[in-house]
Parts: sequence; C-alpha cells; structure tokens
Amino acid sequence: MDLYEYQAKDIFAAHGVPVLPGSVADNPEDAKAIAAELGQTVVVKAQVKTGGRGKAGGVKLADDPEDTKTKAEAILGLDIKGHVVRRVLVTPASDIAEEYYFSFLLDRANRKFLAMASVEGGMDIEEVAATKPEALAKVLIDPIEGVDLAKAKDIAAQAKFPEAVADQVAEVIVKLWETFVSEDATLVEVNPLVRDPQDKIVALDGKVTLDDNAAFRHPAHADLVDVAAEDPLEAAAKAKDLNYVKLDGQVGIIGNGAGLVMSTLDVVAYAGEKHGGVKPANFLDIGGGASAEVMANGLEIILSDPDVRSVFVNVFGGITACDAVANGIVQAFQLLESRGEAVTRPIVVRLDGNNAEEGRRILTEAALPGLEQVDTMDNAADKAAALASAGA
Ligand code: GDP
Ligand code: MN
Repeated sequence: MDLYEYQAKDIFAAHGVPVLPGSVADNPEDAKAIAAELGQTVVVKAQVKTGGRGKAGGVKLADDPEDTKTKAEAILGLDIKGHVVRRVLVTPASDIAEEYYFSFLLDRANRKFLAMASVEGGMDIEEVAATKPEALAKVLIDPIEGVDLAKAKDIAAQAKFPEAVADQVAEVIVKLWETFVSEDATLVEVNPLVRDPQDKIVALDGKVTLDDNAAFRHPAHADLVDVAAEDPLEAAAKAKDLNYVKLDGQVGIIGNGAGLVMSTLDVVAYAGEKHGGVKPANFLDIGGGASAEVMANGLEIILSDPDVRSVFVNVFGGITACDAVANGIVQAFQLLESRGEAVTRPIVVRLDGNNAEEGRRILTEAALPGLEQVDTMDNAADKAAALASAGA
C-alpha cells in the first residue's frame, strides 16, 4: 500500500525523522483556517499517490490565509496523472538552501535492501540516475546487519553530503532505517531532503510503501487505507478474505490458486484476440477450499462488475476435489437466487484434477441455466471469450 505524503510524514515524525507540522484539508475554507493557525507563509500541496506534483501545479506557496484559500481552490480537483486531488496538505513553507535525495528500498534481485542518496535532489531522481549516475550513490544493505550510525555515515560520505550537515544527515538516515524496518516498508523515499539556511535537515516530502503481506503485524496500518479511493468491489472482496483484482476487459475469471489464475488470464487474453479483442475483466482466486459459500461470494463479486459479459470458472481439483467444487457451484446458484441475484450471464466451467468426472456429472445433472462445461482450459477460454464477444 502506498501512503499519501501527509501519512508518510506522520510516520516519519513518530520515528523522529524531522518534518514540518501541517494539516490536511478537503476544502479551501479549512485550508485557510490551517494557514491562519500556522500564522506564516505556507505551502499548499496536493495529496495524490503519484510523483511530479510540483511540475503539475500541485505544490504552491501561499503568503497568507486568503492566498492559501485561493491556492487550495486551484489545486483541489486538479487531475495529476489520472489522480484527482481531493485533499491538500497545508504546511509551513521552508527556506531551502539545498535539496537532497534519499531512499531505502527492497532490492529483490540482490536479495538485499538498497540505500540511494544524492546531493542533487528535488528533481526527478530517474533523470539524475540517467544523466549523472555518478551523482547517485547506491549502497547495498545487508538485511541482517541493517543500518547503524557508522553505516549511515558511510552512506552520507559516498553520496558526498557537505561536511557541515553530513553527521546530521547520517542521524536522519538511521531514523529512516528504523522507520523502514519497524513499519515493514518496502520503500521509504525523501525527495527533497532539505538543508535550510540554518543548516537544519528536514524531510520536505515523503513517500512510503508498506508491505501488505506484513499488514497482520500492524493493526494500526488499517487506519491508513483510503477506503473512498479503493475500488468498492476490491474492498468487498477483501472484507470476505477473497483475492479479487479489477482489470479492464469483459471476461470474469474465477480460479483456485494464484498460478492457475495467472495462466487463465493469459489464455483468456490470447483466446480473446480471435473474438474482437475480448480480455479478462477481473480475477478472483478462491484459494484452496472452494466451498459453496466461497463460490457464492466469488460469483457475487465477479457478477457485480458491470463490465463482465461472461464468466470462466477454471478449477483444478487438488486437496479440494472437483465434486466438492461442483456442489459449491450448484449451491452458489441457489444462494445467489435466494439473495435475489440470480445468475443471468453465461458461465463456462472447466473442472480437472481430483474427482473431475464426478464434478462434471454433478454439474450436468444440475443443468444450471447459462452454465456450460468445457473440458480443456484452452477450449473453455475460447468459449468464454466468444460468449463475452457475443454479449457485447
Ligand atoms: P513532488 O513534486 O510531488 O515530488 O512534490 P515535493 O513535495 O517534492 O515538492 C516539489 C518541489 O516544491 C520541491 O522540490 C521544492 O522545490 C518545492 N517545495 C516544496 N515544499 C516547499 C517549501 O516548503 N518551501 C519551498 N521554498 N519550496 C518547496
Ligand atoms: Mn518530491
């Protein structure tokens, strides 16, 4: 999960990383009130989960509360790379002597963490990396050893931070490392990390990505989820412990196990090329156990997506045998009908693996309306794509 700047800075502050105070407003009047409270020149900053806000007109200085209101009016509602600004952060303006760059991230290829630091911050770090690679220090971090003050000083030295602030930067680096580790982040980035005219180091911007796989260790992180910005179906699926992902095609996909689901997406996309470019609309992994309730919840979510014109249920029976899955599908149809959500769009089912024959027999016997069985994955994908194309 990516965090907003204001959330990242709240987390920074909790770990002792120097940031400036500030508050978030979702309307110009509130922004004005925050500026009045701060009683000084402020910066009004668009809160969107994308970079380059400055260049897009999403970061503006404001001289006084009235000006803050005007600037907030201009920024709220802006579309920055497809992200509509719903909130602004109002924070004291800082005088800037120098802008630096710093980040910790996960380096999967090297099975290590990576620190990146540069005294050429503020702008696009990708640009610095491309045009002046020598200005960007990259230091691998052993996950067992981590970052202590000595290591932080080494990083600061490799990035050639000026002597006057190097020690202070090193202390901030240690605190950013503590943030990175104790919050289970996969990215902590500060751009710009600022040196002010009094040589004080401040994180003026913050980007944090939290590892969702570690969410169970951080109950407090649940509060950071922006429910309003989430896809409502993805949120409903999450509430039912289902892994659902919205895509932009027309074929709904249900499968058991991540590997099978991923290859089903490929097969459907490939088959769809022959049927007017039909593609997967979404996918839902029902995991190992495909009980009637899980199947009903899964079908309900997939069918709630108005883009879905056909559904492909692709199950390989393993520990959960195909007869259990077939019974689950039959009961799911009944459950949905009783909920007033009778299945009306065509469903293609392919059962294979453990007890496949018995599973197929159950479905044949049930003769569910609109449900069709196809024996192989390729043919089933083709059928589902054809039905989606015909239902256009
Ligand atoms: P980004 O463009 O989305 O990365 O947003 P930033 O928070 O990094 O802001 C972009 C730029 O605006 C920074 O690099 C600074 O040059 C400038 N900026 C942001 N906050 C302040 C501030 O408090 N004072 C001044 N003078 N400039 C600021
Ligand atoms: Mn920035």
